[in-house]
Amino acid sequence: MSRIAYVNGRYLPRGEAQVSVEDRGFQFADGVYEVCEIRNARIVDERRHMERLQRSLGELRIRLPMSLKALSVVLHETVRRNRVVDGLVYLQITRGVARRDFGFPPAGTSPSVIVTARHLDRMRGERAAAEGITVVTMPETRWARVDIKSVALLPNVLAKQAAREQGTQEAWFVDSRGFVTEGASSNAWIVTRDRKVVTRPTGDDILRGITRTVLLDVLAAQGLVLEERPFTVAEVLAAGEAFVTAASQIVTPVIRIDGKPIGDGRPGPIAAALRREFHRHTEFS
Ligand code: PLP
Repeated sequence: MSRIAYVNGRYLPRGEAQVSVEDRGFQFADGVYEVCEIRNARIVDERRHMERLQRSLGELRIRLPMSLKALSVVLHETVRRNRVVDGLVYLQITRGVARRDFGFPPAGTSPSVIVTARHLDRMRGERAAAEGITVVTMPETRWARVDIKSVALLPNVLAKQAAREQGTQEAWFVDSRGFVTEGASSNAWIVTRDRKVVTRPTGDDILRGITRTVLLDVLAAQGLVLEERPFTVAEVLAAGEAFVTAASQIVTPVIRIDGKPIGDGRPGPIAAALRREFHRHTEFS
């Protein structure tokens, strides 16, 4: 079965789907994106993802070129046409196609909209969660507005590749004061030995993960204490557990950082419980 992509009003076989060489997403990374989990053929937390999308667009002064209702139809239709039951739906909106010029294109230039969907092996994710993943630290090299879910991801690409070349699955960025900001494609968390769950507060310096937001509800329902504060790599090594959150990873335990074990070097019970409970607190559409 060929995969179908939505590009500016048309559903096309992936091999035929194209954007212009003058698309500002291609020329300047002048665009934003969202990634939602698909579970049992439903989109997880679409409402929250669309709220974040609108915020990202607003910060960059890119207009949403269709109603949220129409966009929702496109997201669901792309999932349906690709027959994805478990996987991800990806949405990208750029400032559109115009002659290459750094300033904004002429008023009336229509933003580009691209939607794709793909299958993910759910059992593979479960295995990764059961085994735990490893991370390496990297100096924070990203721009000062990573709260905007922009497609400008070069530092994340380089960090992820460096992590892979070191045999690990994720990179955790560390700021100039020695505090972990977040992962290259995930939010970062630790659980202290006295069972406090710690994550960096939201601001301009991390992405406000939708999984992170939902997890705050899961923590409250589990009666766990949350501390929103920055933490250091030394604190990670002294922690009982660590984990990452992202739409593509839900809650996945981290068992080693820079080659050193975290806790007893195995996935911990709190991360496992949070992962198990997670979808009781999400919305499905
Ligand atoms: N932080 C970064 C840099 C990300 O790229 C992502 C997701 O891709 C996240 C955090 C997690 O966000 P979400 O939970 O909305 O997937």
